[in-house]
Amino acid sequence: MEPTTFVLFGATGDLAKRKIYPALYNLFLDGKLPPSFALIGLGRRELSDETFRGNVERSIRTFSRRKVQDDAAAVERFLDAFRYCVLDVGRKDDYRKLLDMIESREQELRLTPNRLFYLSVGPEFFEPIAANIQESGLGSADGWKRLVIEKPFGRDLPSARDLNRKLNQAFAEHEIFRIDHYLGKPMVQKLEALPRSHPAFQALWTGRRIASVQITAAETVGVEERAGYYDHSGAIRDMFQNHMLQLLMMLAAHLPAGQADEKAGVRKKKAVQALRPLTKEEAKAHVVRGQYAAGTVQGTPVVGYTAEPGIDAESANDTFIAARLLLDDPFWRGVPFYIRTGKRMSGKSTRIVVEFERLPGQPLPTAEDEGAAHDLLVVDIGPEEGITLRSKANDPRRSAASEPIRIDLQANPDDVPEAYENLIGDALRGDATFFAHWDEVEWSWAWVQPILEAFADNLVPLRLYAAGSEGPAESDALLAENGHRWWSDSRNEQEIEMKEGNQYAYHANH
Ligand code: NAP
Repeated sequence: MEPTTFVLFGATGDLAKRKIYPALYNLFLDGKLPPSFALIGLGRRELSDETFRGNVERSIRTFSRRKVQDDAAAVERFLDAFRYCVLDVGRKDDYRKLLDMIESREQELRLTPNRLFYLSVGPEFFEPIAANIQESGLGSADGWKRLVIEKPFGRDLPSARDLNRKLNQAFAEHEIFRIDHYLGKPMVQKLEALPRSHPAFQALWTGRRIASVQITAAETVGVEERAGYYDHSGAIRDMFQNHMLQLLMMLAAHLPAGQADEKAGVRKKKAVQALRPLTKEEAKAHVVRGQYAAGTVQGTPVVGYTAEPGIDAESANDTFIAARLLLDDPFWRGVPFYIRTGKRMSGKSTRIVVEFERLPGQPLPTAEDEGAAHDLLVVDIGPEEGITLRSKANDPRRSAASEPIRIDLQANPDDVPEAYENLIGDALRGDATFFAHWDEVEWSWAWVQPILEAFADNLVPLRLYAAGSEGPAESDALLAENGHRWWSDSRNEQEIEMKEGNQYAYHANH
């Protein structure tokens, strides 16, 4: 790994404390930080280097997935790389001061001037920081430069294009690493290779065998302290345009054998380009927009969205969205992708379910079956991680019954790197595979834009759902139109898991 100076804007913020320092510490433990490494933390607060290092140490002791070693010398070695510099984004003098500090550290440590600028600050600062990096000469040394930015990347198609154009004045596309932390999750990184990872999947993985793909990200929390941001963003901007469409791309971007060297970014771009566009008039037929009302989440009564502190009592903001998407692609033609994400749902889970058609001759489900009327490939992304194939097979030893078979490809829960570890490690190595490339971001916004407009013009009715439920009934109805149903909610989870008994009660009710 090349020598690197890691310049962290927002070094006193929440994300740095909870995610970035613990990720760097775990990379350090694994020997995955560059041997010559310096970090300069930035913020408006006046902090000495010692106080800053003390804050970083507290953060790793509180949030690191691996316990901070008692080996005080190792912790000291890790913290030794950290320095702090006061910087206000809008003050040009501060960038000159920063340049002096970086240059003196580079000389002191004999570092090649490779600089990684990580913007862990509000999105309104992305453009002025990039412009100041260029203007001050911070980015024009002999080594490489990289820009790592957090979401959100724009709030619609025009603003995303505008932001990108401005960033491109200071950084080329190959120097920009847009973080979508879902892409750092180990299970998500396996998705694109999934069809090749097990003979059973290879046999099942043809467009004709796949009945539907369902992607769910359900949260139990409400809007929490993010009212000001969330009420102008909604589930569509906060989750759907970025994380959910990235999950779709990762799953859909597979290749016929023989083209395995085509870059992941190119394949993901092809997948998002293949999404059949919706007009704003068509949105109502394919999209469900929901907002949580009062209800009970896991035994605790909670208020509705419009009664939350900081939320306008008349707000029509979406806290839930479900959509049916089709891909005009030879493999995926005719296979609906259903995406659903919401707050205040019955359980917390991010999961992809691939539902397969029953083969001719495959036994019909019986009352004793494990609810597995279909073969399902279930990819649990969080909080549990794992891949399970739930399938039915005839057992010749038993006359009438058929046995569900399960293939568990469970990650080792004791040693799963956090998303930020994977992503920061990749950015340090210059590997952009698991970042959101501009084409993907632009095409995602382009697909979402008519829906944003349909929401703004109230062309898609706002459906209320009780907190603690699975979302509005219209989300079930959306799938029922194609003879499908959600396989990834608590109602069906019970059904999938049930060994015997009353699964027919469920069928009867639905
Ligand atoms: P935060 O806790 O509010 O921290 C903001 C940081 O920005 C602080 O370090 C603050 O330092 C600095 N800052 C604010 N104004 C500044 C200015 N004028 N000049 C220089 N520095 C300034 O926010 P956060 O939660 O860490 O989030 C940072 C970014 O990550 C945001 O874009 C957010 O959307 C994104 N993000 C956060 C999370 C998360 O879990 N927190 C998850 C995903 C994405 P001073 O106060 O010392 O100036």
